[in-house]
Amino acid sequence: MRKIINWLSNFFTFEKRFKIVFLNEFPKKLKDKTIYIEGDIKNGDYWYSKFFCPCGCGDILTLNLMNDTPPSWNLNLDSNSSHFSFHPSIRRKIKCKSHFWIIKSQIVWCKD
Ligand SMILES: [Zn+2]
Repeated sequence: MRKIINWLSNFFTFEKRFKIVFLNEFPKKLKDKTIYIEGDIKNGDYWYSKFFCPCGCGDILTLNLMNDTPPSWNLNLDSNSSHFSFHPSIRRKIKCKSHFWIIKSQIVWCKD
């Protein structure tokens, strides 16, 4: 029975959007399609973000969210829709060389 419920909930939530999880410390194992934010969450102070590269290469990407040390990214939370975006785009200079934006909890690939 539980299997059926899981299957149904997976079916209905099947979409490209990423989940976002706020933590005081990154977990040892990361889940796919989940963006982890580490920081002083209570005070809205975000330090780093970690997640699996969306291209599927299996690498874990780490973004610096502290604006005093470049390069850094801004995390924008939309309180109305509960979606989130990162600015600027994320470009890997090594390995898979993925280049994408995260806009409204979705990956938007750059063609270059
Ligand atoms: Zn990749």
